[in-house]
Amino acid sequence: MAWRCSAPTNAGLVDNLATANILSTPRIIAAMKATDRSHYSPRRPYDDCPQSLGFGATISAPHMHAHALESLAPMLRPGASVLDIGSGSGYLVSVFSKLVRPGGKVIGVEHLKELNDAAERRFIAEEGSVAKELLQKNEVIFKTADGRRGCPGEKFDAIHVGASMPVVPEVLLEQIKSPGKMFVPVGDVNEDQYIYEYTRDAEGHLTRERLFGVAYVPLGDVDYYYARGRRLVE
Ligand code: SAH
Repeated sequence: MAWRCSAPTNAGLVDNLATANILSTPRIIAAMKATDRSHYSPRRPYDDCPQSLGFGATISAPHMHAHALESLAPMLRPGASVLDIGSGSGYLVSVFSKLVRPGGKVIGVEHLKELNDAAERRFIAEEGSVAKELLQKNEVIFKTADGRRGCPGEKFDAIHVGASMPVVPEVLLEQIKSPGKMFVPVGDVNEDQYIYEYTRDAEGHLTRERLFGVAYVPLGDVDYYYARGRRLVE
């Protein structure tokens, strides 16, 4: 499944993800079509596999972005708030932002300053004056910080985690609104990792479902990444 959706164009890639039934929600399909991956995935943007961003970080494969967006789709409405932990390339921040406009808010948290600065530049290159306005109004924020504790004190309609952790700490679960959802890879690197979907209902009850096996980079220390490279892939 991982590679079969590759295409020569962004639209072709998104169409293939829909034909493979990974995408089905028209709003998600439209937002992915409106966000050309070539701005965020420097090389081979329409291949359905992860690509290096430098520093040992990767932009996730298009089919993983598609799964995450479909999982969180019920929460991605105009006015919603979204937290993207380990936002890397900034691709999902841009797609989330299109889905929660007008009035929504997207915070990407990425601990590598070089990557985060590049993500903001890439967002501006993609969306021009619209991006600048959203950044100015703090409706899109690229925050350089350790994301392991999320944004304590805030709550979100949707939380996406782009790197794997051994257990999801209580402080992160508390940040899921009621109702709200979280899409998170769980497991140590080099061991089994699975995507978990946490759903909090309107009464505040939290349930969790294990979806499928994955291989994500770790939600870890800055040093782990700097030890794997010091150059941004552009
Ligand atoms: N969704 C992103 C995934 C990038 S890979 C994309 O598709 O572009 C995972 C990212 O998590 C990396 O950029 C890595 O630097 C970041 N990361 C890892 N540990 C982190 C931490 N403790 N806090 C914040 N970001 C972290």
